[in-house]
Amino acid sequence: MKAQIGKSYEIESDVKGVVMNGVRENQKSESVQNASQHTGIGQKMCFKCGKEKLLTEFYKYKNMADGRLNKCRTCANNDSRKWQKANPEKAKEINRRSGEKWRQANPEKAKERNKEWSKTNLEKKKKHAEKWKLANPEKVKEIYKKWQKANPEKVKEKNQKWRAANPEKAKEATNKWQKANPEKHAVKQRNRRAMKKNAEGSHTEKDIKKLFEQQGGICNACGKKLIRYNKKQYHTDHIISLAKGGSNGPNNLQLLCSACNFSKSAKDPIQWAREHGRLF
Ligand SMILES: [Zn+2]
Ligand SMILES: [Zn+2]
Repeated sequence: MKAQIGKSYEIESDVKGVVMNGVRENQKSESVQNASQHTGIGQKMCFKCGKEKLLTEFYKYKNMADGRLNKCRTCANNDSRKWQKANPEKAKEINRRSGEKWRQANPEKAKERNKEWSKTNLEKKKKHAEKWKLANPEKVKEIYKKWQKANPEKVKEKNQKWRAANPEKAKEATNKWQKANPEKHAVKQRNRRAMKKNAEGSHTEKDIKKLFEQQGGICNACGKKLIRYNKKQYHTDHIISLAKGGSNGPNNLQLLCSACNFSKSAKDPIQWAREHGRLF
């Protein structure tokens, strides 16, 4: 018996234990003695329940002289259950740790088990994921951002669907975005207008920023500062208007103060350009 190892040994003795328990109900320790003589397995008394049992019904324990605990499996299991009930947090932690240890020692089996578990516990898995999301908002954001970058078409589609289903909210969101990103909004509008007029060229917010630096932050016509109250204040002007066939590219753009922009729009652009020393 001692030559047998690990799990198979325990399972076998468990089965025997069940049988013995059933027998003992009727015939008490006499049957244990019979079994003991029959199988050659020693026996001892459990200090907890006082019952005489076969040695195989006691968990292995190196520190005891006979290599077995002094309380029987049934009592040991009962005690363990009681302790777990009284110390749920500790029990959970111990369970978690031993589970982790097992997973590290058996990565392939763990993967397989996880798969099986997921198949039969879709709802639980969902809840698990939701819990994780709530606990890791930053990571969720990061993952979503990565996904957005990798799937621009899907993002567009998603947006369009959402807008169609929530027109009021969509309007609100647009207004909010425009207020928060006035320069980007202006660029978008100019590009859209230019496209409608079949003008060539387009520009970006970066082009406008570059233009601002190139002009040294002053109006391209009168030299007035374009920063007031710490805020950039300028009008982006098509040097040759789109209506006259001007391009929408950065080379046909200039930044003007509002006064100059106003005076220009009231006059013929060529005339205005001549007056401001911008002749062609
Ligand atoms: Zn016992
Ligand atoms: Zn000006």
